[in-house]
Amino acid sequence: MVIEVEQLVKTYGPVRAVDGISFEVKKGEVFGMLGPNGAGKTTTVEIIEGLRQADSGRVTVLGMDVAKVPARIKQKIGIQLQAPSLLPLLTTEEILNLFGGLYEHSLPPGEVLELLSLTESRKVMVKNLSGGQQQRLSVAMAMVNDPEIAFLDEPTTGLDPQARRGLWTVIEEMSARKKTIFLTTHYMEEAERLCDRVAIIDHGKIIALGTPQELIRNHFEEKAIQFFLEPPQPQDVWRALPGVTNVAQDESETVIYSDSIPATMSAILKYAEQHDLTRELKDLHVREASLEDLFLKLTGRKIRE
Ligand code: ATP
Repeated sequence: MVIEVEQLVKTYGPVRAVDGISFEVKKGEVFGMLGPNGAGKTTTVEIIEGLRQADSGRVTVLGMDVAKVPARIKQKIGIQLQAPSLLPLLTTEEILNLFGGLYEHSLPPGEVLELLSLTESRKVMVKNLSGGQQQRLSVAMAMVNDPEIAFLDEPTTGLDPQARRGLWTVIEEMSARKKTIFLTTHYMEEAERLCDRVAIIDHGKIIALGTPQELIRNHFEEKAIQFFLEPPQPQDVWRALPGVTNVAQDESETVIYSDSIPATMSAILKYAEQHDLTRELKDLHVREASLEDLFLKLTGRKIRE
């Protein structure tokens, strides 16, 4: 195990930001901590990185106690820093040189820029980078010391879908280099795609832990039928249909969980026909349950309100 966390607690006044969390991270895995804003992800990560102090509990990183030898650990881990935005007049190459110099061991900036697909921007000042490039540079900061564990805290927040996918590819390449990656995110599809294992966290507690497939399989025998319908129909209409186990509605979007897709599907179509709604029924499709569905099932809430 490269990270061991036992009964971690951190409070800010009345807020229990981290409320007795325990988990382990294995060497070489992409471990995801996911949960909504304010769930306690950043607090947990920063305690593991040695940047904040826990009230109680124990954290070891690479076999060392974070509370006792934080400086030794910092040499061996990569932390994603937003520092680039504080130094707008330096080029990407200069920034990596500067930060690489803070470590006993660092990679040549050219190699890190290549890994992050930033080679063409090596002489570009930070202030002139696009949002996606700036975000990739901040991830580069977590790689500059060729760390054994890289911590990426919400690396794709605020990026457009294309830039987000670009960063996913980078993370997959880092993982192929056998790096351990600790990722926090509130994007469920990101966790599902990138992570070997995830801890889902809500109100400072882990509510589910395992591989994405395992978690979905353990909680769902059913699949999801999803569609848009205007005007939305009362949920009880859908709950009464054959095979339906649960219903979630968000304005005109409806998700119906069913353990008998053919029966539910034909009942939905029949209902639409009887109520003259066939033309209003849009984007009707069946899909496997996802981590997003799991979060909803466990908490009754969507991860992003
Ligand atoms: P986000 O995705 O918004 O960053 P998060 O899951 O990373 O959320 P944290 O930033 O760890 O969550 O915050 C957890 C809780 O602790 C929140 O209620 C937050 O308001 C509170 N909190 C975090 N840092 C502090 C602080 N320095 N002082 C007071 N309260 C804090």
